[in-house]
Amino acid sequence: NKKVDIHGEGQRISVCVRKRPLTLAECKRGEVDVVTTPSGECMAVVHESKEAVDLTEYILQHRYHFDQVFGEESSNEEVYLKTAYPLVQHMLSGGKATCFAYGQTGAGKTHTMLGSSPAGTGLYALAVRDIFAHLSATSASLLVYVSFFEIYCGQLYDLLEHRKRRLFAREDGKKVVHISGLRDIRVDSVSSLLEVISQGTAERTQGTSGVNPLSSRSHALLQIQLRNLNHQIAGRIWFVDLAGSERASDAKEPNKQSRMEGAEINQSLLALKECIRSLDKEESHTPFRQSKLTQVLKDSFVGDSKTCMIANISPGHSATEHTLNTLRYADRVK
Ligand code: ADP
Ligand code: MG
Repeated sequence: NKKVDIHGEGQRISVCVRKRPLTLAECKRGEVDVVTTPSGECMAVVHESKEAVDLTEYILQHRYHFDQVFGEESSNEEVYLKTAYPLVQHMLSGGKATCFAYGQTGAGKTHTMLGSSPAGTGLYALAVRDIFAHLSATSASLLVYVSFFEIYCGQLYDLLEHRKRRLFAREDGKKVVHISGLRDIRVDSVSSLLEVISQGTAERTQGTSGVNPLSSRSHALLQIQLRNLNHQIAGRIWFVDLAGSERASDAKEPNKQSRMEGAEINQSLLALKECIRSLDKEESHTPFRQSKLTQVLKDSFVGDSKTCMIANISPGHSATEHTLNTLRYADRVK
């Protein structure tokens, strides 16, 4: 049943792959594109060779099938329509939805979520555009709120508070997870949403002194909520720009801080995989307590929620190992 289109009633998980083009810098240093995405086949193929010279010399082909596969020619708009758009529809009819961007640092997660040419043309903005279009076409009086925070080393930081205030998640008597003190801001247009996001993004990059930019070491979670005039939630969607998946192997690093970060990221990405997998099972025991990420997203793994994962991959030969790891991870999530 997982092969059914996400628009279909039954399907709750959709797993997609997006390949980005080689960057100018990669072309200049002679990086070879080793990933193909045959049109109409929903398949990503990684061509592997010990001596990457041209495609004819490749000896090994790794093929992976997904619900959708986007090649380097796909725009954010096209990706949006087949990934987040059905989730937005679900949210607008009162449901819960979550969209993840997974992948190695530099594979295109932020380009997909936020957009990079120019900023503000990614899934966040496209979703909010459609949310406002829907609200203005209906008579329901609903308000739109956003919150934006990051999870770094198992700790939560509010990106909409100056100096990233630390937050705490707790479960109440009814087993609902709350993040106390999380700031949420009402937005009334795409531009006001983008203003909030750029404020949060500016906080996010502050205090970066390590070798790896902080954005590769933390998960960024944007939540958009619809609320009625009594402040009851009438639909919500999460967009999660995950920490760089290559960091999960930092658990073997000599540097203590990197090792800790790596272990934490490894743990959260494994827990995420298990929680998404359990979405499709009837007698599910969802292991959401195994990481802070899955704990705060608990709502996304129970009830009538819908999930989409976009696994971003780099095309270059020197990224082959990380690309294969990403495809294997996404394959397990299906
Ligand atoms: P990540 O957030 O996964 O670390 P980025 O989104 O920052 O990766 O992408 C790395 C670089 O590649 C950026 O310069 C970005 O503009 C570029 N890029 C990523 N995806 C695409 C795409 N689909 N088309 C064009 N450029 C892209
Ligand atoms: Mg990024």
